[in-house]
Amino acid sequence: MRRPTPTVWVGRVPLGSAHPIAVQSMTNTPTADVEATVAQVLALFRAGSELVRLTVNDEAAAQAVPKIKERLLGEGAEVPLVGDFHFNGHLLLRKYPKMAEALDKFRLNPGTLGRGRHKDEHFREMVEIAKDLGKPVRIGANWGSLDPALLTELMDQNARRPEPKSAHEVLLEALVESAVRGYEAALELGLGEDRIVLSTKVSKAPDLVWVYRELARRTRAPLHLGLTEAGMGVKGIAASAAALAPLLLEGIGDTIRVSLTPAPGEPRTREVEVAQEILQALGLRAFTPEVTSCPGCGRTTSTFFQELAEEVNAHLRAKLPEWRAKYPGVEGLKVAVMGCVVNGPGESRHAHIGISLPGAGEEPKAPVYADGKLLTILKGERIAEDFLALVEDYIERRFGS
Ligand code: SF4
Repeated sequence: MRRPTPTVWVGRVPLGSAHPIAVQSMTNTPTADVEATVAQVLALFRAGSELVRLTVNDEAAAQAVPKIKERLLGEGAEVPLVGDFHFNGHLLLRKYPKMAEALDKFRLNPGTLGRGRHKDEHFREMVEIAKDLGKPVRIGANWGSLDPALLTELMDQNARRPEPKSAHEVLLEALVESAVRGYEAALELGLGEDRIVLSTKVSKAPDLVWVYRELARRTRAPLHLGLTEAGMGVKGIAASAAALAPLLLEGIGDTIRVSLTPAPGEPRTREVEVAQEILQALGLRAFTPEVTSCPGCGRTTSTFFQELAEEVNAHLRAKLPEWRAKYPGVEGLKVAVMGCVVNGPGESRHAHIGISLPGAGEEPKAPVYADGKLLTILKGERIAEDFLALVEDYIERRFGS
């Protein structure tokens, strides 16, 4: 069960325990480059990102934001935009009201608001602008930019304990404290709890689980989950999944981002795909039909089995936009592609539709099961094409009006 939270509306997207866990992403184009940023936001949105964050780091970026918003709306992309502010957010929000208006949420980082009295003033200014415009904020602490004064304060307190904690434990406590103090200060300034999202990002999975459990225990705010600087490729994907899964299964987390470093040439949309796959693997949301395929082993004699699994995956992804419009609920389809008779028929029966290919030494025939019953047995050169045609027929029958 999800941890209960109020609902926070970010543009047309609701965040909180009464709503599906939202997928978000962040652009890596210079925001001042309107063309490039619009193109990337559109790609992220079309890949399924339900919110997109962009940096608003200088005056040129601030001036670009309303143009980006207008262009996106012109393309029919009503995707909420989140402005990421550090150091000068209070100045930019005050000087560029059209930018503030065009954004659907402001992300502010308690560690990059300045020091001492200035920090409090800048925080107050940003929260008041959000309050006046009816915008939500995300108060996002990050261990790479933790407020040093707060860390010193907690280190001093720790030193006076009879049994002091390790410096690392105090650092994590300071991170949570930073977000919680920001949350309480925003409430005191009159921002409603339906306008505040919190996050505390770290780059190690066990640390992330600890800080979010604490945040969940100490506040009611919807939480934005993400492992910061997760890294590249397989490492980044595995680390993100390992960090997010325990929390999501405990009902903690209302929106997620997977912060992958793209390999050269890798599309930015990869982070959206991975976030969706994590939620789908945990049974929390369904975005695309699911293909269950066995890993293959010595019983599979050729690469045909791998090729078929890949072909089915690619076919389902390619057809999904068209199917979504025609067949409501098609995202919940489960397809099995199995390598031999050991687990093939069993796994195929658990899927909506599944095929069990002949393994080494088996008769060259491939039984296909639909809704747990034997549908047909495929043979010959065209098994792949015939199976995909059966999948299409099944979708038409089950999800068609
Ligand atoms: S289903 Fe058959 S081919 Fe696939 S892993 Fe199991 S034994 Fe191997």
